[in-house]
Amino acid sequence: MGYIEAKEAIIYGRYVEGVRIRHVVDEYYDLIVIPGFSDGHMHPQVVDAGLKPGTVWRHSYEWFENRRLEVDEAGIRSDLRLSSALASLVFKRALLEGTTLVAVTGRLEANLRAWLSLREKPRAVFLPTVMKRRGWASVPEVAGVAQRYAKYLGDGLARIGVFVHSVRYGASMLRDALLLAKRLGSVVGIHVSEGLREMEELSRLAGGPPYPARIVGVHCMEEEDPAYYGVTCISCPYSNHLLYRRTRGSISGITGFGSDWPLLVGSVGSHIGTIASLFKEDVMGILKRATMGSYKAYSMRHHGDMVAMDGGLNRLLDGKAKVRLVTVNNRLVVREGRLVSTGESLRDVMRRIQEAITQAKRLYPIEQIARS
Ligand SMILES: [Zn+2]
Repeated sequence: MGYIEAKEAIIYGRYVEGVRIRHVVDEYYDLIVIPGFSDGHMHPQVVDAGLKPGTVWRHSYEWFENRRLEVDEAGIRSDLRLSSALASLVFKRALLEGTTLVAVTGRLEANLRAWLSLREKPRAVFLPTVMKRRGWASVPEVAGVAQRYAKYLGDGLARIGVFVHSVRYGASMLRDALLLAKRLGSVVGIHVSEGLREMEELSRLAGGPPYPARIVGVHCMEEEDPAYYGVTCISCPYSNHLLYRRTRGSISGITGFGSDWPLLVGSVGSHIGTIASLFKEDVMGILKRATMGSYKAYSMRHHGDMVAMDGGLNRLLDGKAKVRLVTVNNRLVVREGRLVSTGESLRDVMRRIQEAITQAKRLYPIEQIARS
């Protein structure tokens, strides 16, 4: 038996100098983060965000209705094998970036298959998107898949909830989603206040607090107090900045952070520098939310989750610290910057992501919609 020693540590959101933790062999790192980083919102099948260089959108609906995608997203989601391959790359990338918990929207069965097939994986909250549009699931469909897979998810590493797209696209499904989440002992996620004040409307549509299940609102860019509306908030500062050139004015009211498009921009573990520069406030408050935050938002356990890095706190804030070792539930999943069973590095996975994106664009070009 040996020890992991580190010059600096962030433990449950607190900064500590000089730590020593029991480990199978003696090792030394510049920085230890316990638990690892948590990513409270990601779309693992998004290969194209429809960003137009120079365009600053006012709100999510304007972006959603006017973005020019190169790919047919519904086509990608309908392809179980491709959707699952994309999710698998997202889980790998997250771990190699030190992200030990992810909350994923998109197609449930694809995400579950990917997660179950991997030896090394982050803890996961599955929040399949429901919407009354082509290529999206309904609440009963999600309930069916959740029931089929429940027996594989009893180890505390994963949980299934449901994701209503937004107040405008899915309001009629909100109550059913809340009842399903209640049955699953889980949560309902929803995009909210992404450029427009929507908390009042969300609260009204959900029947007012207390709700049948917890509501996790994603984005929460406007100056509304989520606690007043009984909503837990995940902020996506990185994608907010890309789409709207702004994010919420303060971290107050935010429980955790999300990355939105992990295939394109990476997970929260790789965004610390950007988040710190966008909020320009209380670094420890940011780090607490980037680590403990989404564990708290989704009531997930974090025992035995840890990241060890080369480069101390200052390098982490500069975006230059390197993930060397990761454990999830006390199991070693990344060692010397590589996934334990496959030996893949972050660079290897990034290359495979580029190949998969190219393949998705080739298989499902947007013209297919015009032809069909
Ligand atoms: Zn989103």
